[in-house]
Amino acid sequence: MDSAVFHPDFKARPYWWEAIPIGENPPAELPARADVVIVGGGHTALNCAIELARGGAKPVVLEAEDFGFGASTRNGGAVSGGINLGKGLSGARTDGGVDPVVRAMLGDAAESFTHVETVIAREGIDCHWERSGRFVGAYTPQHYASLASKLETLNAEAGTGAEMVPRERQREEIASDYYRGGMRIARSGKLHPGLYHRGLMAAAQRHGAVLVGRTRAGRLSRDGAGWSVETSRGTIAATEVVIATNGYTGGLTPDLRRRVIPLASHIIATEPLDPDLARSLIPKGRTLSDTRRVLCYYRMSPDGTRVLFGGRARFTQVTPQVSAPALHRMMLERWPQLKGVRVTHAWTGNTAFTFDFLPHIGVTQKGLHYAMGCNGSGVAMLSYLGAQVGKKILGGGNRVTAFDGRDFPTRPFYTGHPWFLPAIGSWYRFRDWLDRRVA
Ligand SMILES: Cc1cc2nc3c(=O)[nH]c(=O)nc-3n(C[C@H](O)[C@H](O)[C@H](O)COP(=O)(O)OP(=O)(O)OC[C@H]3O[C@@H](n4cnc5c(N)ncnc54)[C@H](O)[C@@H]3O)c2cc1C
Repeated sequence: MDSAVFHPDFKARPYWWEAIPIGENPPAELPARADVVIVGGGHTALNCAIELARGGAKPVVLEAEDFGFGASTRNGGAVSGGINLGKGLSGARTDGGVDPVVRAMLGDAAESFTHVETVIAREGIDCHWERSGRFVGAYTPQHYASLASKLETLNAEAGTGAEMVPRERQREEIASDYYRGGMRIARSGKLHPGLYHRGLMAAAQRHGAVLVGRTRAGRLSRDGAGWSVETSRGTIAATEVVIATNGYTGGLTPDLRRRVIPLASHIIATEPLDPDLARSLIPKGRTLSDTRRVLCYYRMSPDGTRVLFGGRARFTQVTPQVSAPALHRMMLERWPQLKGVRVTHAWTGNTAFTFDFLPHIGVTQKGLHYAMGCNGSGVAMLSYLGAQVGKKILGGGNRVTAFDGRDFPTRPFYTGHPWFLPAIGSWYRFRDWLDRRVA
């Protein structure tokens, strides 16, 4: 291992896991029946469980590994309320202004941000939540213009409180000249994803949900008016089932697996920095991301001492020995002043992309629900959509979200094995390189 990159105490596990012991307790007993069985143990499942249990139902959450295994404790902890829908919404505008569907989706995106803030406050979750805002760096002047063209719609429909920051004022946001200006978004925040997840688990249990870890759902079959779920630890009967497996969707639901592309994302954490250097990097403490196709996202740790730098160093799962040097190089491109700073943690996890770049909820058969397709950004959106599925099952007469029951596209011959990702990754890297050359 390259000693210029890796700290002697390097750990190939999430930095967030320092604050949350994973896999400490033996799994709970598997009950014989539940009103609702929720498959998956991340933010989607837990928000669904909280909603159901608060409404008087008896949900049981099944997690194949230890709770906290999935993307929900591996992410960057950036919480957005609209900006990330951009790609899925492109081309959806009508000549006469904002398409009503787009308007409804942006409304949901804004709601998702409110939802996270509400759950954290209502359940008393101590997860370093901060309405810090975000800065999206434009990689080229064309990208800056493209961001500027979305500003009005984002502010009007999702209340993002966004404004453009020209290159001359960029150092207000980041101690770097790497970008060509960017967009500052006020209605955006950050949290500690591990502590958020732990807080959701505690809240779900407090409201009466049963959380069963190390229990893989292996087969679903109709059983009278409900469902029978065969698991690695026995069978459980349920009236309804919710699939909340996002980037880890597998053979249990082949029809859903064909609709999501598991795309890896990777993060490094640096060793603690000199305090003056640490304070200077992101003067206003925002989260950062950029407009490259192979995008990077980064922030300071909640205690302000380390950089957490993430990106699609590779589109597939690779070891930290491969992803960490690539991310370290990308970090130095933005902040040459970090030369000599080493990596203490590196990890990876799966996001779930969809062919229309939009999240989806719906039912595949009577009583079989799903919520998935974060497209790289699900802390807010999938928390919200998980809760929406819960509300729908309770029949509380809530408004139907714009992501409910839409056509959930797949492609011929795609079964869930994204053999094409390395080629797409190379193509995107080439396009990023070209964009800068011709800009
Ligand atoms: C490195 C990385 C960085 C990210 N950064 C951000 C960010 O900064 N902001 C943001 O908004 N989003 C981010 N995301 C995305 C975000 O983490 C996800 O959208 C979100 O966590 C998805 O939550 P989930 O509950 O749907 O899925 P997960 O948390 O992935 O949980 C799914 C779970 O399902 C379980 N499972 C699968 N099959 C079965 C089965 N048969 N039986 C039982 N359990 C099963 C898996 O073990 C897994 O634990 C990031 C993702 C990654 C990987």
